[in-house]
Amino acid sequence: MKEKIINIVANSSYESRKIKQKLIKLLKDNGYTPSKNFNPDAELNVCIGGDGTFINAVHKNNFTKIPTVGINTGHLGFYQEVSPDKLEKFIEDYNNGDYSIEELKLVEAEIFTRNKSLILSGVNEIVLKAKHSKIIHTNVYVNRNFLEKFSGDGLLISTPSGSTAYNFSCNGSLVHHSLEVMQMTPIAPINSVVYRSLTSPIIIPGSYTISLVPEKRYANSNLLLVDGKEYFFNNLKKINLKLSNRKINKLVFSQDSYWENLRDKFL
Ligand code: NAD
Repeated sequence: MKEKIINIVANSSYESRKIKQKLIKLLKDNGYTPSKNFNPDAELNVCIGGDGTFINAVHKNNFTKIPTVGINTGHLGFYQEVSPDKLEKFIEDYNNGDYSIEELKLVEAEIFTRNKSLILSGVNEIVLKAKHSKIIHTNVYVNRNFLEKFSGDGLLISTPSGSTAYNFSCNGSLVHHSLEVMQMTPIAPINSVVYRSLTSPIIIPGSYTISLVPEKRYANSNLLLVDGKEYFFNNLKKINLKLSNRKINKLVFSQDSYWENLRDKFL
């Protein structure tokens, strides 16, 4: 009979390690083979911790198509579907196929410097900022149409599922995860007689390309944040952003969890 492998990652908190041990035992009792390292033949990834643990795991696993489910031992837990006191119910529902798969979109940045190009993807958001908390000055195009010369702290491009994260703190809108869109949200846009920057977030179709072209004199002072991780580029020429063709599969046990999350975690 084919082995039913389940990958498990946990952050280092006492609570997460305790839950991990309990889960390993329950999975073995139910005929599964838990794996502490990422096994590409697994049928499910379980990550125990907060949203940060989920985000780290999907990056580390190179945005695998294997469905992922989170057990929340953190504070907010937007990505973390299962409560630690409901492990038995989680396994029962999983055994019975009482779940659905939700696709999470990724935002993808193609980065061009004078010498190289590379692609980075984010689950929540990609933010263009400046080193040493300086202002950014960047030209913004949507499908090659010039939109604005933005000046301010930064420009944040979020996925629908990332709209409840940093985007929300910057007055971005909440966007349902089923929508194939990205949101461009300004961070502290400057408006004066010298600078004119859009102050409102814009929702843009996911297949469109947002191009950020920093002014030449700022080509060496950029900071890119991808889900909170910092990247620095010299001679940055351009960044093209769109929704990626790749998606993450997340297990959900209640169709109402999105609305429950908004109510329970924000209100
Ligand atoms: P972290 O793991 O400590 O997360 C920071 C907070 O963001 C946590 O409370 C987490 O629950 C919450 N969060 C993460 N993803 C979320 C989502 N999709 N919806 C609602 N809340 C979410 O910090 P980190 O690992 O350095 O960064 C991860 C994320 O933190 C980034 O992707 C960014 O969205 C967020 N962040 C938020 C702010 C802000 O709100 N001012 C600033 C920086 C980073």
